Amino acid sequence: MPPVYSHSRLACFEDCPKRFHYRYILKVPAETQSIEGFVGKQVHEVLERLHRFVQQGLVPSLDKVLLRFRAMWEESYDPDQVRIVREGHSVEHYVDFGERCLRQFYRLHYPFDADETLGLEERIQYRDPEHGWRVQGFVDRIVRARDGSIEIQDYKTSRRIPSQKRLDADRQLALYQIALREKHPDTPIRLVWHYLTFGATRVSTRTPDQLDALRAEIADLIQRIESEERFEARPSALCDWCEYRDACPAARGKPKAAVEPAAAQPAIARAAARSPAPKPAPAAPAEPSAPSQMDLL
Ligand code: SF4
Repeated sequence: MPPVYSHSRLACFEDCPKRFHYRYILKVPAETQSIEGFVGKQVHEVLERLHRFVQQGLVPSLDKVLLRFRAMWEESYDPDQVRIVREGHSVEHYVDFGERCLRQFYRLHYPFDADETLGLEERIQYRDPEHGWRVQGFVDRIVRARDGSIEIQDYKTSRRIPSQKRLDADRQLALYQIALREKHPDTPIRLVWHYLTFGATRVSTRTPDQLDALRAEIADLIQRIESEERFEARPSALCDWCEYRDACPAARGKPKAAVEPAAAQPAIARAAARSPAPKPAPAAPAEPSAPSQMDLL
């Protein structure tokens, strides 16, 4: 079966080929995740539930939204599995942070009737006809705006807003547009980011020529990945957030004495033993999370 790529797979390879190798070739299970990733996932799930309610003509109160967030947090937070990297930050700090994101979004968009939801956590993809591989992604929310345009909306819980120049060159939502324009060839499409921490929205657009150039650039990158043999480590500040930091001998800032031999890294050794072929094709990404339970918000 032809391989499937996504923005996060491509970015993983560009950031550190070794991490890509652990995650997508050896398929070493991630035993921990960063708390930033955890809080972002909870916030995304609550916003998905909120919009599913709105689609049914029901607008939950802000109190209910925040209660749902707390309940989900308590159900899924595991201190042994979720890592706090930044020193001096408590779990409660991140709970407050998630609540702040939701409160800002709710107050800015209530009563959520400025546009029409066309899709939530929607999987979209395009296929390269020459090579057969596909690029796919999950869009937080696809929207029909009042002017008839389609918006590809993405929620961000990051601590800063990129410049407009960087957003105009952003790859993730532009990849989604390549896939979506096959379905809506004549409709203007906008790329929209909600920076939840700041209650701010940013918008960008792409021309057909820019999308064609991006498509070619992605094809080059995938060919580079498929011909890669060394998957060398690229240590950086990102090592602090890497799920393989404990096992990776190249992790930045790791004392050499603390580095254990590969045989002493059980998860990686087991994964390597399961992976006889030197370069198996990356597997399809995980399926989207189960549909929201409508009665829970
Ligand atoms: S710890 Fe750093 S060098 Fe090692 S795989 Fe992770 S990102 Fe790459």
